[in-house]
Amino acid sequence: MHESKEFISSSIKTLNDKLDLDSWKKVSGGQEGNDLSTLDKYGYVIKPQEVKFKFINPKNKQGDPKEILKHNTEEYEKLMKMRINEPKNADINSMRPPAEGDIDKYQRENATIIALVRNSEIANIGRSIKRFEKRFNSKFRYPYTFINDQPFTEKFKEKMSSLSQAEMHFVEIPSSLWEKPEIIDSEKQKKLMDELASKNIAYAKMESYHNMCRFYSGTFYKLPELQKFKYYWRIEPDVDFYTDINYDIFKYMRQTKKVYGFTVNLYDIAETIPTLWPETLNFLNMGDNYKYVNRNGAFQWLLDDLQNPAKNAEAGGYSCCHFWSNFEIGDLDFFRGEAYDSWFNYLDSTGKFYYERWGDAPVHSVGLALFADKKDIHWFRDIGYVHDPYMNCPNRESASCDAGKFTNFDSLLDQNCMTNWIDYSMDDPNAIY
Ligand code: GDP
Ligand code: MN
Repeated sequence: MHESKEFISSSIKTLNDKLDLDSWKKVSGGQEGNDLSTLDKYGYVIKPQEVKFKFINPKNKQGDPKEILKHNTEEYEKLMKMRINEPKNADINSMRPPAEGDIDKYQRENATIIALVRNSEIANIGRSIKRFEKRFNSKFRYPYTFINDQPFTEKFKEKMSSLSQAEMHFVEIPSSLWEKPEIIDSEKQKKLMDELASKNIAYAKMESYHNMCRFYSGTFYKLPELQKFKYYWRIEPDVDFYTDINYDIFKYMRQTKKVYGFTVNLYDIAETIPTLWPETLNFLNMGDNYKYVNRNGAFQWLLDDLQNPAKNAEAGGYSCCHFWSNFEIGDLDFFRGEAYDSWFNYLDSTGKFYYERWGDAPVHSVGLALFADKKDIHWFRDIGYVHDPYMNCPNRESASCDAGKFTNFDSLLDQNCMTNWIDYSMDDPNAIY
């Protein structure tokens, strides 16, 4: 390992004459400090004739990836074992639950809980709703939007309605937002998915899973029923919430102007996204698309290759570190925005939601790292959460889990990349809790 690592992609070559210092200054308003050498505080540098991402190691993390992983795992556990309070960067007392008698009059944010789910998962999603109601939503009553590619059964609707007093909407996805697009060559798809399945990649041959990933990547925010909402909180079958949440998370999102909230940061299976990053570079090379890149993006987190160089190499320069999207709180305006949506349309045109197995989690994560300001992406460190086999377990009074535990399986500890998020993208991990 050298003290700096340069990443150059062949596909970025045509960007040379586009993303130079002058044009960047124009895009970013030409203010002091906006030149490319300050894109990331640890040294993201792009030279006019030669486009490069250059990393200078921020801490004593040079060396053996195994050592880095060990160090990062310890740092993570140390941080999570410290007492964690509610965030201090907002007026949390203005976000308390209403008194029980006042809940009908409660001024909610323009937000909904969303769950894409099958009728057959009635018991599994029921468990999640019960737990979610107990920890959060019985106190605030945000409306639910259940989403399905099939019509929901009466039984499903009745069961869900029995679990919460909140309003519930049951939405059937129009097939144009769900089914694989006509451009997909079925023979090519089959051949490639057989190959992927032979590498034991889960869901490789399951077309509905590819539909699901494409839906959550780029069509969910086009559902007519979600147009009126600004925020969503996604939940899934069989998840659990380990801590009481006593403030209105959506009010927190709005007051702090966050665009995205997450709880778990982990590596994706590189074989499912070999060209997600190279294709993204292709997109940024086209026309003036580079203008969408946020100068305060989470670039170093996105491209890290110190902790897990093999993943980075297999994914063409993307670290594979992502926000686990089975829990996510998002600002729909970010996804509906021109940057994210035109990038998604490009990704979709490659057909690789079907020729590869691009997940919605890495797609959201790459989009956020490039097009959002990293300070607007929030780790809800105070929310205890689990979707097997990974969890976020803070040291809090109400937590029903072991503080600092990431997984019950030691063999999976190396999948955690939260310390990269902490090191590269947060100002001071202790400042707000
Ligand atoms: P995993 O977490 O990656 O193993 O994937 P899941 O099986 O949990 O799927 C992710 C989410 O999409 C869950 O909320 C599922 O209920 C939902 N989902 C997956 N496939 C389908 C499908 O074909 N139809 C519907 N309606 N929901 C689906
Ligand atoms: Mn799941």
